[in-house]
Amino acid sequence: MALIVQKFGGTSVADLERIRHAADKAIAARDAGHQVVVVLSAMSGETNRLLAMGQQMAAQPDSREMDQLAATGEQVTIALMAIHLNGRGYPAVSLQGWQVPIATNAVHGKARIEQIDSEHLHRLLNDGRIVVVAGFQGVSSEGNITTLGRGGSDTTAVALAAALNADECQIFTDVDGVYTTDPRMVPEAHRLDSITFKEMLELASQGSKVLQTRSVEFAGKYRVPLRVLSTFVDGPGTLISVEQGMEAPLVSGVACSRQEAWITVAHMPDTPFSASRVFGTLARAHIEVDMITQTPNAHQRTDFSFSVSRTDVTQAISVLAGALPELPAEAISVNNDVAKVSVIGVALRSHPELVMKLFDALAAEQIRLLAITTSESRISVLVPDTETERSVRTLHRAFGLSVAVKAE
Ligand code: ASP
Ligand code: MG
Repeated sequence: MALIVQKFGGTSVADLERIRHAADKAIAARDAGHQVVVVLSAMSGETNRLLAMGQQMAAQPDSREMDQLAATGEQVTIALMAIHLNGRGYPAVSLQGWQVPIATNAVHGKARIEQIDSEHLHRLLNDGRIVVVAGFQGVSSEGNITTLGRGGSDTTAVALAAALNADECQIFTDVDGVYTTDPRMVPEAHRLDSITFKEMLELASQGSKVLQTRSVEFAGKYRVPLRVLSTFVDGPGTLISVEQGMEAPLVSGVACSRQEAWITVAHMPDTPFSASRVFGTLARAHIEVDMITQTPNAHQRTDFSFSVSRTDVTQAISVLAGALPELPAEAISVNNDVAKVSVIGVALRSHPELVMKLFDALAAEQIRLLAITTSESRISVLVPDTETERSVRTLHRAFGLSVAVKAE
């Protein structure tokens, strides 16, 4: 007997028929003798609908009340599922966040889970019940309902699995696992049987939308084995865990993000202090910089170029413009037409030949690189936006990810 947490996202509970279908999965696990906790999202589109209504009621809606409103979406689906399970002779009980309880801080709209009391849940499970928990919500110490941020049901599921010491946390969704890259961009992309938390974290933060980044961080920290599966097509999905098999491929996937902007601060004096002035100015404004290049030019002058998230561009420009005389620099320019393409794998930094392979492959295609960064499990290049798809396809092929399809 194992303890399994199953999470179903919005498309998997979009209507009554789908809720019945999701219930089949919980029943199958129960019939196999497992204890089952189900975590549900709201019906797809429902959270958007609720938040949009709230927005129409005031120019600046109160964040406590917006959470109170948004959390109702999940209350509907959990009750419907529990009613259905009970009707089919499988004792079930639905619980909202506060009924578990899932204690969070008081930051409405993006609350963090602080503690989960698993006693109540264990009692219900030992009593033979399927427990259906509302995702995305918790309760603050003042007793207010909080929500965990968009896509937060993944985090609820992982946190519950950690608190209950579950054997597996299964994330049921509308894709059948984690892919080597976006199949819409590269038809030869294929499903991975397994991947490590570190790689999944890189994939999630580099633009793969299968799992909320925070939930992956959480799963890695508490070592909760995660499995991404399709609600609609039976299959093994992708297991995300600590260990990678002995024969695991070094490179697991290629991700891309179009959320970057490339800023250049031009014509600064080429002194040892210039970099710290530019990046100190940004750091004081809490702006995260990802890739950096420095290009010296004539007459002891130098340019700094770096990437920031597109959401930070306006602020970055304004703080740098304010600091122009002190930097000092002559001009600031922005290029939004860039994309970051990343190769993700295990221990990449200790394999310099992989970095070479990446350069060779992109050079052979005459793709211009604006910047490069490497980390233990990621090599990223910044390319012109128009080259995004070609870069992803080229790297997918170069690292043998397209070949593996034929071998399967
Ligand atoms: N219903 C919430 C949302 O749409 C939480 C979730 O689906 O994970 O963001
Ligand atoms: Mg989701």
